[in-house]
Amino acid sequence: MGRKCNVKLCESNKTTEHITLFSNPKDQILYEKWTSIVNAWNCDNTKVKYLCLKHFEDNDINKTFDGFTIEDN
Ligand SMILES: [Zn+2]
Repeated sequence: MGRKCNVKLCESNKTTEHITLFSNPKDQILYEKWTSIVNAWNCDNTKVKYLCLKHFEDNDINKTFDGFTIEDN
């Protein structure tokens, strides 16, 4: 309960389907990278806790979000 993707307009927040979420990286530098990317998407300051699988499907994005830990919902 309460777990959702921190990308505001993400489609996965509108569904009750099982969504795989990735928890934020423990590494501070990577975490800040996540935060800046997601804040740019959201046009807001979001404390990023989870990102869903959708944002990792693209190879480039996958590299950008390197260092995540998988957490099954
Ligand atoms: Zn998402």
